[in-house]
Amino acid sequence: MNADDQREASLAEKFAGSLLGLALGDCLGASWEGYRGTEVAEAYYDGRFDPVNLRISEWTDDTAMAVATAQSIVETGRVDGFDLAAKYLAWFESGGRGIGRATYHSMRRLQSGTAWNEAGQKGEYAVSNGVAMRIAPVGLLHARDISGLAEDCRICGIITHRNEDAIAGAVAVAHAVATAAAGELSIDTLAVQMSSVASSPQVSSLILRAGELVEVGQSPLEALSELGLGGSVYETVPTVAYCIMRWPDDPVKGLVSAVVNGGDTDTRAAMVGAIWGAQLGTSAWPDYWLGELPGAAGIREVAGQLHDLVTGK
Ligand SMILES: [Mg+2]
Repeated sequence: MNADDQREASLAEKFAGSLLGLALGDCLGASWEGYRGTEVAEAYYDGRFDPVNLRISEWTDDTAMAVATAQSIVETGRVDGFDLAAKYLAWFESGGRGIGRATYHSMRRLQSGTAWNEAGQKGEYAVSNGVAMRIAPVGLLHARDISGLAEDCRICGIITHRNEDAIAGAVAVAHAVATAAAGELSIDTLAVQMSSVASSPQVSSLILRAGELVEVGQSPLEALSELGLGGSVYETVPTVAYCIMRWPDDPVKGLVSAVVNGGDTDTRAAMVGAIWGAQLGTSAWPDYWLGELPGAAGIREVAGQLHDLVTGK
């Protein structure tokens, strides 16, 4: 194997690691969505709770919509709003497990014939994380060429969320995934990087706050409580940055922390998994998790196809 082959193998592992990490986060977090309390988190940080005991559930909306996004990019060769909307609608009509409110109303409008670029929810209910949770494949598409990433996030996003802040949060996540896959992401400066590309002053400043809380050594319980555990993009994206930066050498600890503190656990953990997996590849994740992950073979397959598209194979 020459050096180029090794680099290619590494990039392929990063694509698989990102989408598998996203699904792991979703499936580990799904049983805990809405959990309010600090007992489990306290036990975990005290070493009294072994994450091997976390249950791996079925996929929810985070994995289903991210995989649909990846499949659409593979089939069309780009981020195609019309095709993405058709795939999201097919998922919705097959049951739409875990669907969020903004996406639900957008899917109903698509069903009644509204165009893909006019169906997305507007207003306060659209400041949610439904775009950021599914955006990792768009980041991977840009692993070799970052130009156009923000516009592709917008095309993907407005199908369900016509909200600048929701899209800004998605751009921050996609940019982190793209640069991690490219080998250009420094975990130590993740918050500064994500903040700099999020074209929303509010999202941007909240991500920076996450970085400050790491720097000052705030306890995870207090830091995540301050940043917020709910499902708005103002809360999830900053807590994602925090969970990664707080444990810069330990993707498992970041992923488990995204779960055990409660709130919008599956979506927060899905994003942490997507970014860490893009940074480290599949080796980020323990075999005992990957072995139990539903649909892992299909996720690896679409990650491979996305890799081949990006590398021109
Ligand atoms: Mg979910």
